[in-house]
Amino acid sequence: MNYYNLGSRSIVTSFSDAVIQGIAPDRSLYFPERIPQFSVDLLKNIADIPLIELAIEAMTPFTSPDLTKEELRLILENTLDFEFPLVEIGSHYTLELFHGPTLAFKDVGARFMAQCLGKFSGQKNWSTKTTVLVATSGDTGGAVANGFLGVEGIDVVILFPEGKISEVQELQMTTLGQNITALEVKGSFDDCQSYVKSAFVDKDLISHRRLTSANSINVARWLPQMLYYFAAYQNLRKLGDQRTPVFSVPSGNFGNICAGMMAKEIGLPLERFIAATNVNDTVVRYLNSKVYAPKPTTPTLSNAMDVSDPSNFIRIEELFKKQELERVIKAYRFDDSQTLEAMKHLFKEYGYVADPHGAIGYLGLEAAPIDSSSEVGIFLETAHPVKFDGAVKKAIDIDVVAPESVKRLRSLQKVSKKIESYTDLKDLLSSN
Ligand SMILES: *Cc1c(COP(=O)(O)O)cnc(C)c1O
Repeated sequence: MNYYNLGSRSIVTSFSDAVIQGIAPDRSLYFPERIPQFSVDLLKNIADIPLIELAIEAMTPFTSPDLTKEELRLILENTLDFEFPLVEIGSHYTLELFHGPTLAFKDVGARFMAQCLGKFSGQKNWSTKTTVLVATSGDTGGAVANGFLGVEGIDVVILFPEGKISEVQELQMTTLGQNITALEVKGSFDDCQSYVKSAFVDKDLISHRRLTSANSINVARWLPQMLYYFAAYQNLRKLGDQRTPVFSVPSGNFGNICAGMMAKEIGLPLERFIAATNVNDTVVRYLNSKVYAPKPTTPTLSNAMDVSDPSNFIRIEELFKKQELERVIKAYRFDDSQTLEAMKHLFKEYGYVADPHGAIGYLGLEAAPIDSSSEVGIFLETAHPVKFDGAVKKAIDIDVVAPESVKRLRSLQKVSKKIESYTDLKDLLSSN
């Protein structure tokens, strides 16, 4: 399938070029030229076929002819080798998306994208390596680093703000070695992001180094996130629950929820979604007032959602026209004290340790009217609580039990380089 460019629709690009470029030349996003549909036969058996087969059926139209079915199968097998359990919590469920290698839902998109980019850039026979340059406020970095670890022909350079991310997040970026370099920036996340932006437009630099990004606007990171919604749907049916799921998605850049909407559009029987945000609530205000007015970003406990101008919202508007949008999505915002209260409540009532992002998803379900005769609420738990153990400690005063993978991390040596300015970054990228 080809992808058009939301800025100038007449220009189309192949899947592989959209993956390599990430963002279109006019800085707008790529969008699939048509919405494929599940066949009637597939829909009949949708709860029973293995997840991997369903994933292949769903992704094939989006990735062919650039990936053969066998190539796609191999990539998906390497992407989906962990569980997506559905856990009952009171009258709702949570879909745990944190059982991947870096304990965050971004693993699926990052792994899928890394394999695609490795493959497509290899086919170009470029003489120089490609460098993936990412700024992270904590959660993206680990998933991207892990996804690209050992991918031939690709170097990864990650910038994170010194002292402003959790211990586990830092270890996930700084202990890998190989083709992964972690840069500790004296400054804020905004400084990291501004250095990265400067690098992309630095003619000096890009004349001898091919730079690309790995953020959620890349179609290869966005689309595979549909698979979570398939997994949840199948798990729900396996539990004998025939109701229609209503997903509450803790949202920052709105990539995950937009993938859920795409899953609905290609045929997964869903009706509507809940977007749950922290106080960075541009979309919530927009849906209530029809005025899109981003404010400066406010730091919160759910810092992976500290986004005030969500890049994927334009894709949601492409999928649903205004009136439809009101039917398909309800949005709510919650502040840090509500988040902490929800974490407390989940622990006290159900013995469930939630991270701050999942807790906001839970609050979304509690805020929205749900007709429990025909609908059932599922909130997405997007990160393992150990990644946000400071917030957990604050809310319920316990130390999160670390999974084996974290114990292993804690035994490894941290390696990073400190930088203080864009010049430091440029020198570093120019020297090797
Ligand atoms: C990235 C992230 C989110 C937000 O996802 P979007 O696709 O950007 O809306 C939510 N929770 C966690 C833990 C994340 O890392």
